[in-house]
Amino acid sequence: MEKPVREIRINPIVPSESVLVATARGMRPKKAEAPAPRDTRSHVETCPFCTGNEHMTPPVIASYPAEKNWEIRIVENLYPVLGDDRQNPNLTFGLQQTIDGYGRHEVMIDHNRHGIAIHEMGEPHLALLFGAYRDRMEQLYRSNSRLRYVLVFKNFGPAAGASIAHTHSQVIATPVIPDNVQAEVSNSRAFYHKNHHCVFCSLIDEALTFEATIYDRESGEIRRKINVGQYVIERGKRFIAIKPFASRYEWEVHILPLAHQSDFLRISKDDLNDLARVMRRTMARLDAVLGGAQYNYFLHSLPHDVQFEGCEASYHWHLEITPRTSIPTGFELGSGLFVNTVAPEMAAEKLRAVVLD
Ligand SMILES: [Zn+2]
Ligand SMILES: [Zn+2]
Ligand SMILES: [Zn+2]
Repeated sequence: MEKPVREIRINPIVPSESVLVATARGMRPKKAEAPAPRDTRSHVETCPFCTGNEHMTPPVIASYPAEKNWEIRIVENLYPVLGDDRQNPNLTFGLQQTIDGYGRHEVMIDHNRHGIAIHEMGEPHLALLFGAYRDRMEQLYRSNSRLRYVLVFKNFGPAAGASIAHTHSQVIATPVIPDNVQAEVSNSRAFYHKNHHCVFCSLIDEALTFEATIYDRESGEIRRKINVGQYVIERGKRFIAIKPFASRYEWEVHILPLAHQSDFLRISKDDLNDLARVMRRTMARLDAVLGGAQYNYFLHSLPHDVQFEGCEASYHWHLEITPRTSIPTGFELGSGLFVNTVAPEMAAEKLRAVVLD
C-alpha cells in the first residue's frame, strides 16, 4: 500500500516555482476534467482543414512533403491573436504601459487525416512534423528582428483550448519572451555559473543513475527510498521522456535530447527520427492510461535574443506535455502553487507499465 504524499516540491529548474503534491484518497481537492470525445473520422466534408477544402483556409504558407498530396499544411490563422498591423501605436499612459500586439499567428495542420491522434501517426510523419516546426521557427526568427520568441504548441480538446477538431498545432511569434522561458533560461544560467554544468543534463544524469535510501535518524527505519530512475518514462537513442519530480500537472511528461542542445533549430535528421519514436511511444502510453485526455504540448528552446547570448551551454531545449485531467482551482490561481493529486512516481510507474507493440 502506497503511503499518501503531502509535500511541497521545489522545481529544480525554476526554484521559485513549487507544487503541492497531495495524494490522500478522498481528499479530492480538485474537480476532474472529462476526456474530450474523440472525433475519429478521417475525413469531414465541412472541415476547413480536410483535403479538398483547401480554399476554405487563408493562403498556404508551406506544405509537406509538397503542396499536391500534402500531409502537413501551414496556413495563417483566421483569427490571429497577434498580427502585422500596428494598432494603437504609442498609446501608453502612466502605469498602463503597452507593447504593440505585433507578431505572427499560424496554424499547422498536423495531418491530412481529420481525427488521427499523435500516437497513431507514423514515425516518419512525426519526424516530418517536428521538421516543419523547426523550419517555420527558423523562418520566423529570420523574418523580423522584432520577433523575440517563436512558440510552437498544440491544444487537444476544448478544455485545452482547441476550437477545431481536426488535428493541428499552432505557431505564435511574439515581441516578448514568455515569462516561463525567461525564468528557465536565467535560472539555468545561474546554476551553470555556480556548478559549471547544465541543470537539465544533471537531471538526466540523475534520472539514469541515482539511487538512495533515507533512514530515520533516530529509529534507523527506512523513511524513503529514492530511485530517480523511476521517473524515466521512455528512453530512445537520442531522447528521453521524464516525469518531472515536481510536476504541476498529474500526467505531465517532458521530452529532452540526451546530448546537450540549447536550440531546437539545431536538431539533426537522426535526432528528428528518434524524437518521433520517443514522442509516439510517450503519447501511446499517455493514451493507454488516460484514454483521450485533453492536453497541450509546447516547445521551450533558447530564445534568439542578444539578452541570452552565451546561454548555449546552460540551457537545454525540451518539449513539455501537459494533459489536462483536472480543473485549476482558486487556490492554484491565487497562490501560483499548483496541486498535484497523483504522486509523480506513481504516475511514472503506470506510464512505464503500459505494454507497447
Ligand atoms: Zn478535418
Ligand atoms: Zn544540458
Ligand atoms: Zn520548459
